[in-house]
Amino acid sequence: MSKAAENITGPDLALLASDEPPACEIVNDGGTAPFLLICDHASALVPRSLDGLGLDEAVRTRHIGWDIGAAELARRLSARFDAPLVLAGYSRLVIDCNREFDDPTSIPTISDGVEIPGNRAIGAAQAEARQRIFFAPYHDAIEALIARFRARDHIPAVISIHSMTPIFEGKERPWEVCVLWNQDPRVAGPFLKNLRDDGDIAVGDNQPYSGRDDYGYSIQHHAEEPELPHVLIEVRQNLIDTNQGAARWSERVARALGPALLDDRSIYSAGPNYRDGPTNRDGPTNRDGPPNRDGPTNRDGPTYRDGRS
Ligand SMILES: [Zn+2]
Repeated sequence: MSKAAENITGPDLALLASDEPPACEIVNDGGTAPFLLICDHASALVPRSLDGLGLDEAVRTRHIGWDIGAAELARRLSARFDAPLVLAGYSRLVIDCNREFDDPTSIPTISDGVEIPGNRAIGAAQAEARQRIFFAPYHDAIEALIARFRARDHIPAVISIHSMTPIFEGKERPWEVCVLWNQDPRVAGPFLKNLRDDGDIAVGDNQPYSGRDDYGYSIQHHAEEPELPHVLIEVRQNLIDTNQGAARWSERVARALGPALLDDRSIYSAGPNYRDGPTNRDGPTNRDGPPNRDGPTNRDGPTYRDGRS
C-alpha cells in the first residue's frame, strides 16, 4: 500500500487487517428469546499485528487467554433458547472486554504467573487503539441489541457466559457451575435454586469470586446500571473443553436457566421492582453482607484480579 493510503487508513488497519475476523460476532441476531447472551472471553485469537504478544500459541490458548469452552456453551444456549448472542472476537490478553480501562488487568502484563511481553511497554496511543478496535465494537453490539429490545418495549435480561480454570494459583475449585450476582436476585435466585434442585451439580454461589467485588465491566455497565435483570455464569473449564462436554453441560445449565428466565415474566417489567418486594423467593442464601461497592482495596499489584471472570 502507498504511504498516502496508510495515512488515510491510520492505525486501525495496522492493528487489525481486513482479512482477519471482526472484533465481535453476533449469533442469532433475530432470536426471539426475551434475553440476550454475551461472552466476553470467547476467543483466544490475537491479531497478526501483535505477533502473538510474544507468547507461544500453546500459552495463549491456556485459560489466561480466553474462557475455554465458554463460546461453545454460549452458542449452544443461544441455539437452544433462540437467543441473540454477542461474542468478543479477540483474546482478553489483547484487551479484556470485562474490565474498566483503568483496571491493571485491562491489558495485563502478567496473568496467572505468565508474563505477557507484548503488553509490557505499550503507550497510551496503543492502549487507546486497542480499546477502539477490540473493546468498543463488542460493547456497541451489545448496546445495539439491548436498544432493539427496548424499541419493542421489552426489557431484556442479560446473561453473561464464562468458564473458570479448575485449578488457580494451586488451589482446586470444587464447583461445577457458579452463579455470580450482586444485588439483583431476579435471575440468580431461581437459577441457583434450580441448579441445586438438580441434586447432582456442585453449585457455587458467588464463588470462586463474588459478583459483589465490582471488578468486571460488562454486567455492571449493560445490566446493573440500567437495572436489567441479569446473571453471570461460570462453568468449570474441564467440563466443557470438548464438544461432548459442552453439549452435556449446556443441557444441564439450560434446564436450570430456562425456567429462571421464562417462567416468571414479571422480571421483564420496567423498574427495579426487586428492591421493593420479597422477590427473592427461594433464592440465594449468602445475603449476610452488604455488597462491597467500594471494591477491592488491594490496588497495588497488577495481578490481584487475574483469573477472574
Ligand atoms: Zn471469563
